[in-house]
Amino acid sequence: MTREIFLVDIQTFYASVEKADHPEFKDKPLIVAGDPKQRSGIVLAADPVAKSYGIKTAESVGQALLKCPQAVLVRPRMQHYLDISLLITQILKSFTDLVEPYSVDEQFLDITGSRHLFGTSDEIARTIQKKIMKDTGVRARIGIGTNKVLAKMACDNFAKKNTAGIFRLDQNNIEKCLWPLPIRAMFSVGSHMEKHLIGMGIRTVGMLASTPVELLRKRWGINGVLLWQTANGIDSSPVTVHTYDRPKAIGHNITLPYDYVYEKDIKTIILELAEEVARGARAKHCRGNIVSIGVRGANFDHPTGFYRQITIFHTTSFGMDIYHAASILFDRFWDRQPIRSIAVTLSGLHSDKEYQLSLFDQSEKKEKLNAAIDAIHQKYGRTALFRGPSLRPSSQLRIRSKKIGGHWK
Ligand SMILES: [Mg+2]
Repeated sequence: MTREIFLVDIQTFYASVEKADHPEFKDKPLIVAGDPKQRSGIVLAADPVAKSYGIKTAESVGQALLKCPQAVLVRPRMQHYLDISLLITQILKSFTDLVEPYSVDEQFLDITGSRHLFGTSDEIARTIQKKIMKDTGVRARIGIGTNKVLAKMACDNFAKKNTAGIFRLDQNNIEKCLWPLPIRAMFSVGSHMEKHLIGMGIRTVGMLASTPVELLRKRWGINGVLLWQTANGIDSSPVTVHTYDRPKAIGHNITLPYDYVYEKDIKTIILELAEEVARGARAKHCRGNIVSIGVRGANFDHPTGFYRQITIFHTTSFGMDIYHAASILFDRFWDRQPIRSIAVTLSGLHSDKEYQLSLFDQSEKKEKLNAAIDAIHQKYGRTALFRGPSLRPSSQLRIRSKKIGGHWK
């Protein structure tokens, strides 16, 4: 069945909440700034009026005031914004159970099963917009698509720019609407990747979509395939509410002792989890070809984070394969918010007797290496041998090795 996914985004979220609470500022340019008294404070959000003066998020208050001296400066009220965000989640949940917060002002919805109850996608989108406006005073823009990446790109490139604030992107209009756009407009292409792609002569999303996938795979591995899939509007990731209970899978998750904000620290944990998952798979004599990663934000009252999965080309029970795939997903989907819990899962499991030898893969060598590592761990314990990143203070390896009693899921 064709899925129907929404990405609901709130326009200039913090600034819109302040405007809704302060009708006296209705037509004035408004800035929410870290420390409004300090000219060196940072602009966290600017409403559309302030933006029309050229004010941008993340510039200094001093710079912003040069462009628009009459702007109203407001101190942020983070807890209040989180409460409003949660209220919006509640509104969305009255349309479907499947609501996945993606960031503080963006949430994915799967309304595939709700259409017969609430009307067409377009009608549902308009109803959601109206209800959010009525209950919170902020404006939602909604991207619609048959999967998450289409919904996200529909929102970012079109719904945010048209007057309706709603846009649908699917296989019928992807060629006409998305493909002519510069490569930077594609979801997950940052300035770094943009440079690489332009260096290869790929300047538009359409040019990427029609690049032979093998070429991209040779250059970037799984990430190249993901890029190609995104350009072609292909994505099978589900909208998930309960991230961690996947059936027929081997997964491990960890709740961190404090919020992790640095990529290196988080990657250390991903590596440790990947190694644990791989060991679990080997202990059960199986290999899998679907790697999933879920991360959750630090504030459990307001769930943020994401859950993503990727299918790799051959089944594996190697930690580095799992780590590599999980890292690619993490790099693409992390919104840089603090992280408190991480889960890594391997699914698509098969008995390790039936796996096919891949010509491109050094399976045999890795097999021997892993057998040796497993033997050392069995004999001398988990901490006798580990990868370099686990020397970092952020590592949880030593603490975990004390807690684990072989409880593979
Ligand atoms: Mg927004």
